Amino acid sequence: MSPFDSFADLLGPANCLRAPEDVAPYATDWRGAYKGVPVAVLKPNTTEQVAEVVRRCAAQGLAIVPAGGRTGLCGGAIAPPNGPASVVLSLERLNRIRHVDPRDFSIVAEAGCVVQNVQQAAAQAGRLFPIQWGAQGTAQVGGMLSTNAGGIRTLRWGNARDLVLGLEVVLPDGRVLDDLRRVRKDNSGYALRHLFIGGEGTLGVITAAAMRLAPALKRVESAYVAVPSPDAALSMLGRFLESGAEVIGFELCADFCMVMAETHGVGLRMPLPTGSAPWYVMVEIAAAHASVPLRQMMEDTLGEAMEAGEALDAAIAESEAQRQMIWKIREDYPDCSRREGPAVGTDTSVPVSAVPDFVNTAERELKARWPEGRMAAIGHAGDGNIHLSLHAPAGQTDRAAWLDRAAEMEPLVNAIAVSLGGSFSAEHGIGQSKRHAMATHKNPVALDLMRQLKATLDPDGRMNPGKILP
Ligand SMILES: Cc1cc2nc3c(=O)[nH]c(=O)nc-3n(C[C@H](O)[C@H](O)[C@H](O)COP(=O)(O)OP(=O)(O)OC[C@H]3O[C@@H](n4cnc5c(N)ncnc54)[C@H](O)[C@@H]3O)c2cc1C
Repeated sequence: MSPFDSFADLLGPANCLRAPEDVAPYATDWRGAYKGVPVAVLKPNTTEQVAEVVRRCAAQGLAIVPAGGRTGLCGGAIAPPNGPASVVLSLERLNRIRHVDPRDFSIVAEAGCVVQNVQQAAAQAGRLFPIQWGAQGTAQVGGMLSTNAGGIRTLRWGNARDLVLGLEVVLPDGRVLDDLRRVRKDNSGYALRHLFIGGEGTLGVITAAAMRLAPALKRVESAYVAVPSPDAALSMLGRFLESGAEVIGFELCADFCMVMAETHGVGLRMPLPTGSAPWYVMVEIAAAHASVPLRQMMEDTLGEAMEAGEALDAAIAESEAQRQMIWKIREDYPDCSRREGPAVGTDTSVPVSAVPDFVNTAERELKARWPEGRMAAIGHAGDGNIHLSLHAPAGQTDRAAWLDRAAEMEPLVNAIAVSLGGSFSAEHGIGQSKRHAMATHKNPVALDLMRQLKATLDPDGRMNPGKILP
């Protein structure tokens, strides 16, 4: 009997994939940047099955690569070709909402729940699950937590980590850590769940999570604002935060990014013409009570910003369709940027006040070094996370040549962010793609502790090898 017969017996043959054409979708990432070589794809549908798979993999010396929606941007869910024999452990069938409690403002969801389904379950209970980003229709709870995802609402509700009340995790030795409680206060020792959040599957497999919900938003107003500079945008952010409204989104986008969205987006309509300003802000304010005069707050704040020279022009969404269009532009942007052609990207963050300095310094240095490149800057300015990328000259399609030519771009941008007190990995994680940056920038004591933790929890190094640690 082959080792895989035992998995097929446990999970059913349809949930133990071995044929190359079945395995192929799990062997490459969203960008097509990483190719893996898993020996099988296993799809358990209960926590007990996950634990049994982990134990059987240990017995057979197989490494495990957990996979969620496979929208991660750092190659974390891909088995590296030069690593040990690995199975992909897909959580997609572990996808039940176990509990929604509106009085408790909490939800318990299994790891394979698509994030959008969690949002919908919360909405049906009259509550809000606040994490939101472009891949929410595919990304899963386990992937969201394992990468500690951010998105467009981090400035109001924090990253995924900030919403977690409790976790259920299968450890590398097959034991189940059942910490799936919904209590708001628990100071009974080390907060172990935080090791697995942002752990990218290197310490265990998340099987379920208890997460906070927020009150549903009864009023929401969005605007698309032309601004003269990142500095002006930051002044306007302060003005919105002081306006009394809840600011739930504040995105800064360079004109070039909006040109790419207009060129490659399907059905996107720009609220203001591209080319009319160097930068744009997408701002959203909200209230949990219908009586809050939100529209007035939006108009007053934008009026003040224009008088102060922080805003050049603004289009306030006049309907729900217009509001959704503003955020569709933002959410579709990564795909539009991908269609524009080869680019080197980054995922840095700096203190919010340092965003203008970061963008200006990077722009100056990139122009000096790669005058033919086209810099794109877009991101969550409200939390200091700007994604800078350097696109190849228009029409150049040779990806390998451009990645080679601009190979030093990412280290340069990382160094600028770190010099301003920022991070080289804001919200996407480390995976395979940023291990070199860990070696350069991560505090050596922190790195040492991380290695000790890994050796303690996963002494045989079977959980997602080749990820995070350099
Ligand atoms: C168009 C687009 C836009 C995006 N925008 C944003 C954004 O604004 N903000 C942001 O933060 N990210 C963004 N991302 C990145 C990505 O969506 C997130 O990193 C997401 O959280 C990954 O979830 P996933 O289910 O796809 O995880 P996967 O890609 O499947 O896995 C990601 C990592 O988590 C591990 N993992 C997955 N499930 C588990 C589990 N159950 N237990 C343990 N480990 C597990 C994997 O091994 C891997 O290391 C974007 C991606 C795309 C494609």
